[in-house]
Amino acid sequence: MRRALVTGGAGFIGSHVAEALGEAGWDVAVVDNLSTGRREFVPPQAQFYPYDIKSKDAHDLVRQWRPRVMFHLAAQMSVQVSVTDPLFDAQENILGSLNLFQAAASGGVEKIVFASTGGAMYGDAAPVPARETEPAQPESPYGIAKLAVERYLHFYHREYGIVPISLRLANVYGPRQNGLGEAGVVAIFIEKFLGGNQPLINGDGLQTRDFVYVEDVVAANLLALDYPRAGCFNIGTGKETNILTIYLQLQEFTGSPLGPAHGPAKPGEQRRSALDCLRAGELLGWQPRLSLEEGLERTVAAFREGGN
Ligand code: NAD
Repeated sequence: MRRALVTGGAGFIGSHVAEALGEAGWDVAVVDNLSTGRREFVPPQAQFYPYDIKSKDAHDLVRQWRPRVMFHLAAQMSVQVSVTDPLFDAQENILGSLNLFQAAASGGVEKIVFASTGGAMYGDAAPVPARETEPAQPESPYGIAKLAVERYLHFYHREYGIVPISLRLANVYGPRQNGLGEAGVVAIFIEKFLGGNQPLINGDGLQTRDFVYVEDVVAANLLALDYPRAGCFNIGTGKETNILTIYLQLQEFTGSPLGPAHGPAKPGEQRRSALDCLRAGELLGWQPRLSLEEGLERTVAAFREGGN
């Protein structure tokens, strides 16, 4: 049977990827230390290993179980944490990745699909939407670590023939999201609204992001299986949406009476961000399917049912 290892498969995006792989007939194993992930998010048909990606256990598992493909999503995914503790970020996101890649090199892994970042990759000076051909100018240790891992993947390609696919994700949102990551604002606002608490918008709310629904991100991961070469793809919608718009949509879908309230702007926060995703369309045959309205409505429904 075709074996796929999903690191971070108890997390938000990884659990959806693991589920879809299982449905597509793959034999799936999940490695996740449950630092932010939840055991109940791991699909029942997947084997679960509660290992840290930095551990010998994780290393040995890759060598012995010999997956054909590794989907590498386990990470410290808070930009803010990376700014306050770059050493911790590098240990998790760079050294943890290398521990897995070394094992992959001797464990016969043919392909690694890596959850990289689009939102934290191009920096403030890049045109919006940014294409993959823009120079990478990450400003946070989180973005720097993601870029470093992309570069290491090229080393493993040259040296060991493992095909690397880096998916530079925009701000992903959907069921099971927590409030910690790049697109955490959607989860934070929904939880506040549903709990009857006032969500706070940082600054004027006119800062923009590219919000992509998790199901579309899962589709990109599965399409990466069929792409035979090394590749780096932006995965977003190409559209900028400001935080105030997100607020108003979620207020409507949750039926909350609480109008916008503003807190102080976050110092150094990027003002605009969106990803040009034409390359993924041309080469992977990928396109985002869900509109923002549909995606937010589904997310609110899932949170209401306790599926967050
Ligand atoms: P998440 O926190 O839900 O998932 C990360 C998972 O990795 C969690 O289940 C966590 O327990 C696990 N993990 C963390 N450190 C680990 C370690 N040392 N060993 C084993 N497991 C560990 O976050 P997510 O939003 O699903 O992010 C998944 C990936 O996508 C991350 O690599 C993140 O950087 C990337 N990404 C996310 C977004 C987004 O908008 N959510 C955007 C760009 C990139």
